[in-house]
Amino acid sequence: MSIITSNVSKVYGTQYALNNVSFEVQKGEIVGFLGPNGAGKSTMMKIITCFIPPTAGDVSVCGFDIWNDSLEVRKRIGYLSESNPLYYDMYVKEFLEFIAGIYHLKNVKQCIGEVIEMTRLEIEQHKKIGALSRGYRQRVGLAQALIHNPEVLILDEPTTGLDPNQLVEFRELIRQCGKKKTVLLSTHIMQEVEAMCNRVIIINKGNIVANNTMSELKEKVISYKKSKRDYEMSMEEVFHFLTKSD
Ligand code: ADP
Ligand code: MG
Repeated sequence: MSIITSNVSKVYGTQYALNNVSFEVQKGEIVGFLGPNGAGKSTMMKIITCFIPPTAGDVSVCGFDIWNDSLEVRKRIGYLSESNPLYYDMYVKEFLEFIAGIYHLKNVKQCIGEVIEMTRLEIEQHKKIGALSRGYRQRVGLAQALIHNPEVLILDEPTTGLDPNQLVEFRELIRQCGKKKTVLLSTHIMQEVEAMCNRVIIINKGNIVANNTMSELKEKVISYKKSKRDYEMSMEEVFHFLTKSD
């Protein structure tokens, strides 16, 4: 199992950002992590990547525990966070060299060459990051997540704000990465999950409301439509039903 979260809670003040969340992601799966704004997606990802500790609960990544083996966990994870923090004054290659240094990589040139090719950054590789379009900045964000060849990729809303062409290209990139890696990907877009994921976990107000394979989710949608006698309903409308506020 690549990721196991058991009874994870995170409390901010009196607010439960996560409330007893348990799920597993198997090796090689691409799992979509869905939920409205404020559902707890980023909080869960920050816990898995050891950026913040949970208030309660356990997480293990590739058999290593976040409490006792946080460095081993971090070695195995590539993380593209929601804000994609980059140094805009750095050149693309300079930034990737900097990240390679953080991971103590030995064959730096080769690793950078490979991720530049993989994320198709070739034509922009000599520019400053500040001069890149949002789509290319996301590619740099993905390149830094891939540089140490991690087993697990955690991508927090990686496609938000991309134009339709960038969207198609970026999804293809993630799909390619998913052939060799375990991917947990948060998004708001149902079609994106349909296009890329084997399974979807939907979270709402810190609680899991669905954890299904795509075919199970489709079955669920069909039976929900039947119960409503509304066959015109889209996946988005079913998502809305599962996560709407009362
Ligand atoms: P999502 O990524 O699904 O939009 P988040 O995990 O960012 O949701 O946030 C979940 C909830 O936790 C939100 O209500 C958010 O305001 C709250 N939250 C997140 N980080 C903090 C923090 N550092 N301090 C207080 N509340 C926070
Ligand atoms: Mg978020």
